[in-house]
Amino acid sequence: MSIRVNEVVKIYGKQRALNGVSFSIDKGEVIGFLGPNGAGKSTMMKIITGYIPPTSGKVSVCDFDILESSPEARRQIGYLPEHNPLYLDMYVKEYLTFTAEIYKMPQVKKRVDEMIDRVGLGPEAHKKIAALSKGYRQRVGLAQSMIHDPKVLILDEPTSGLDPNQLVEIRALIKELGKEKTVMLSTHIMQDVEAVCSRAIIVNKGNIVADRSTSELRIEMGGDGQGLVVEFSGRIEEKELLSINGVAGVLEIGKNTWRVRVSGNADVRLKISELAVEKGVVVLMLRQEEQRMEDIFKALTNS
Ligand code: ADP
Ligand code: MG
Repeated sequence: MSIRVNEVVKIYGKQRALNGVSFSIDKGEVIGFLGPNGAGKSTMMKIITGYIPPTSGKVSVCDFDILESSPEARRQIGYLPEHNPLYLDMYVKEYLTFTAEIYKMPQVKKRVDEMIDRVGLGPEAHKKIAALSKGYRQRVGLAQSMIHDPKVLILDEPTSGLDPNQLVEIRALIKELGKEKTVMLSTHIMQDVEAVCSRAIIVNKGNIVADRSTSELRIEMGGDGQGLVVEFSGRIEEKELLSINGVAGVLEIGKNTWRVRVSGNADVRLKISELAVEKGVVVLMLRQEEQRMEDIFKALTNS
């Protein structure tokens, strides 16, 4: 087992940040730790990485207890903190060399070059960290977290604050890293989980409210991981939309504008435009509807 968390409680003063949390993560899994602000995600991650102790409960990483075998456990972990405190005045290579030396890595230069290559930092590697975009700073953070070749990566909100292009790139990179390492990433964005993770552990107010595979979660959310909003230039009948294979339900939300629920992973966009052509109308707008965290919480906590 890569990570085992057993009945962890964390109390800050009077604030109960974690309320007896248990879960385990197998070798090779990519887990989304999903929850709104204040849910306890960062607290859990700081406890797993050994930065703060739990009030009670046990955590082990690769079967090393994080308190009793702290050095061995921490050697297995790469950690990207939420507000990654990079040294802005340092050059990328200088910073990574510095972190490799802290870990007493052999062949520091070779290791730094490998990491730069691995996270796609090549074109920016000669710059000062201060000169990098948020997306490239995250790459520096990822390179730093992996410099000692840990088995487990703990990434605290690795996609927050990225623009849409950077978001796609960093998700792809994390997915790639997940082929070699066990990854636990926290996020408040459902799409991160859909794009990258095989399983989601959902936390709210210090409690786990769901622990499901991404596909199970999609079904639980009402049979659809996705919804579309489509606006046509003219009239389309409800039954015409429903006749499309993969359309699970429709709702007219405005003039010639429909919300379309899609079952499973079906891609119905082409069929929707074909239907429009057939009926002599045009698709004026078609967008993926964001599955909002709040909707998921309602669904999970109301049951
Ligand atoms: P998340 O990362 O999910 O946003 P956190 O783990 O940062 O949540 O915080 C969980 C709760 O614990 C919040 O209510 C937060 O205000 C509180 N908290 C976090 N760190 C501290 C601290 N050092 N002292 C007191 N309260 C804290
Ligand atoms: Mg946090």
